[in-house]
Amino acid sequence: MRLISLAALLAILAPMQGIATTSNAWSNIPAPSDGEAESIGGYANGCLNGGEALPAEGRGYQVVRLSRNRYYGHPALIDFIQDLGNRVADKNLGLMLVADMNQPRGGPMPSGHSSHQSGLDADIWLPLDYKRIDGKRDHLKSVAMADRHKFTMNYDAWSDRQGELIRLAAEDPRVARIFLNPRIKMELCNMEWEDRRWLRKIRPWFKHHSHFHVRLKCPQGNAACKNQAPPPAGDGCGKELAEWHPDKRKLWKKSSGKKSRPPLPQQCNQVLSRK
Ligand SMILES: [Zn+2]
Repeated sequence: MRLISLAALLAILAPMQGIATTSNAWSNIPAPSDGEAESIGGYANGCLNGGEALPAEGRGYQVVRLSRNRYYGHPALIDFIQDLGNRVADKNLGLMLVADMNQPRGGPMPSGHSSHQSGLDADIWLPLDYKRIDGKRDHLKSVAMADRHKFTMNYDAWSDRQGELIRLAAEDPRVARIFLNPRIKMELCNMEWEDRRWLRKIRPWFKHHSHFHVRLKCPQGNAACKNQAPPPAGDGCGKELAEWHPDKRKLWKKSSGKKSRPPLPQQCNQVLSRK
């Protein structure tokens, strides 16, 4: 009998039995491509040329779950995280833990995210009290700051420092939006702030109760990069937030169903085959 590779077998079985594949062409590529940095396509349908790795250790931050090999991004994203780490350190907020960013050349991930494809998305954990540890930090777990089913806060874990961290990220002009659990956004809305304009960028979304997801705007000169329309005007603290409730995910799943994805932009074929 001819031997069939595990990846090929999974690819055959996955559509039949709903088994999640553990790899794809994009996740198998170990390193970024050469050439000038360019984010190509959309956040949920794109890829990254000339990406950079975020150093695992830096001032104010540390990368977790290194074995996943998802700590890459457009240089604009690397700069953003390092700048945010510096602000976290300057303000003594604790240690910022950075989780999934992008695969070395971006592209769709076989598991975990539909976006994080064009080199401009990053997940940042909400807990700030972890000590620096050695190793790959694969088994470190984050802490839920809200109960996403009951819509209550976990005040044993939440503090003003989390609010400050999210504000620092949102006020950065490079940031387009931040996805966060609606119950936690509600908490931010109820806090007093000198300037509330940044709250507009905080977009309520399912889960995101132990981390927040930062999305940057397309870097200048990246002609093939697709921005999202800006968030609606206002701080989004009123009606829009009130419409969120624990059952919304069920309703949303029912209405959205399984959509087939459009093919990746043509340029991504070259990114995949480049040295
Ligand atoms: Zn994310």
